[in-house]
Amino acid sequence: MSTREIYDQFHRHIRRLGDLRTASHVLEWDQETYMPPKGATARGQVLGTLAGLAHDQLTSDRLGRWIDEMLAASSELDERQRANVREVQRDRERARKLPRELVERLSLAASRGLEVWKHARETNRFALFAPELEKQVELQREVAEAYGYTGHPYDALLEGYEPGARVADLDPLFRELEEVLVPLVRAIQTSETPIDSSILRGDFPPERQKKFALEVIAAIGFDLDAGRVDVSAHPFCSGFAPQDVRLTTRFSPRDLRPAVFGLFHEAGHGLYEQGLEPSERGLPIGQAVSMGVHESQSRLWENVIGRSRPFWQRFFPRIESLFPMLFGRDMEDFYRAINAVEPSFIRVEADEVTYNLHIILRYQIEKALLSRELAVKDLPTAWNEKMRTLLGVTPPDDAQGVLQDVHWSMGAFGYFPTYALGNLYAAQIHRQAQLELPRLWSDIAAGRFAPLREWLREKVHRNGRRWLPRQLLKEITGEPPSAEFFCDYLRRKYGELYRLG
Ligand code: ZN
Repeated sequence: MSTREIYDQFHRHIRRLGDLRTASHVLEWDQETYMPPKGATARGQVLGTLAGLAHDQLTSDRLGRWIDEMLAASSELDERQRANVREVQRDRERARKLPRELVERLSLAASRGLEVWKHARETNRFALFAPELEKQVELQREVAEAYGYTGHPYDALLEGYEPGARVADLDPLFRELEEVLVPLVRAIQTSETPIDSSILRGDFPPERQKKFALEVIAAIGFDLDAGRVDVSAHPFCSGFAPQDVRLTTRFSPRDLRPAVFGLFHEAGHGLYEQGLEPSERGLPIGQAVSMGVHESQSRLWENVIGRSRPFWQRFFPRIESLFPMLFGRDMEDFYRAINAVEPSFIRVEADEVTYNLHIILRYQIEKALLSRELAVKDLPTAWNEKMRTLLGVTPPDDAQGVLQDVHWSMGAFGYFPTYALGNLYAAQIHRQAQLELPRLWSDIAAGRFAPLREWLREKVHRNGRRWLPRQLLKEITGEPPSAEFFCDYLRRKYGELYRLG
């Protein structure tokens, strides 16, 4: 067979593997939105079968031989094809490093951990969760050893969420963030012009929230003929294909922020999924490159654009017309209220200034657990101490402290840093967009979102996994990931909002 023919075989094989994964995603989406509670056991079995089939496809000897032959004759492939082969090889090597019995133990520990965590959080008893968490930490150490690493064992776990990210890069990035954010939060708290956010409390009928949010996401370019919006307890975005992207949100009748900003956020993820190259569906070039880059797209639309003054110059008259309690109110008061900064206990409710401090706390703790510098039994104390140092608040109980997130119960160690990276990438990418699109803000004030959306499509979405995240940032902005742009963005925006000196 010629290299060209081998590539065609490879392409078909990987496309079929992608179809298996898509089937799993559809079932997972259904599980979170419409499946009745009693369906959980059967659904778990079906998902297990599909995961096993996908694993066999990825680790098959036949695929290994094709990859070896193509790597030996890679000059006969074009750049996109080479990237597809390289990235499938990366996935395959990683998948082959975990023995099947370890995968099964991980899956059991995750479903059991999730169940125990739910109960522990509801009853506010860390002691109940501690033995499960100890098992999870042990398992994650085993996983890190199985994958292998050259620096910190945490590197092996990061790789699963942010390929190429290393502790050696994240440590200085997060240290710089901490040095800027902690004094910025203090300065905001002692500002002589605090923000009154009472304008956001009142009666906001969910059906009108939905109407407004759908109008906005359609305006920024989320194609509702190639996607839909449903309700779920934990909002998410799932892309089955660029032409079929599912978003979810949740409604709070007394506060429009969770639904409205939550949906802007998910629509940012959705635009990434809709912007992937359709002809490469299922192949690496047709896939999002990392959790961090995905999060950069959601944060950019939710915060950098969706919490900006020009954006609300465009949309305040509309939201005012939908909710009687906003009639005749000043847009500036609304703009200030949606940007109020207030250190709080719960990460998912945090504003854009304090949010990354919640992530830094989790990052430090995950590393310390993995390297045995911190024991699970000492975790609540360590958590509360770090909350005091970083945010100046102490959680009243563990349910609002160390037990608040689902991630550790399922063994998702190494995931948290991607949220902070998303914020940093968003600011860095947006700075470049401003340089290349000088009319960006006046376009947004006029409701013209296509220039920014198309720019992101070309610079980010269409590239899929052509480069690793670090290289992608370099290609777009000329520089590797940096905390500088995010810190500048916050200083400028919040310096003005809180009239800091
Ligand atoms: Zn997100």
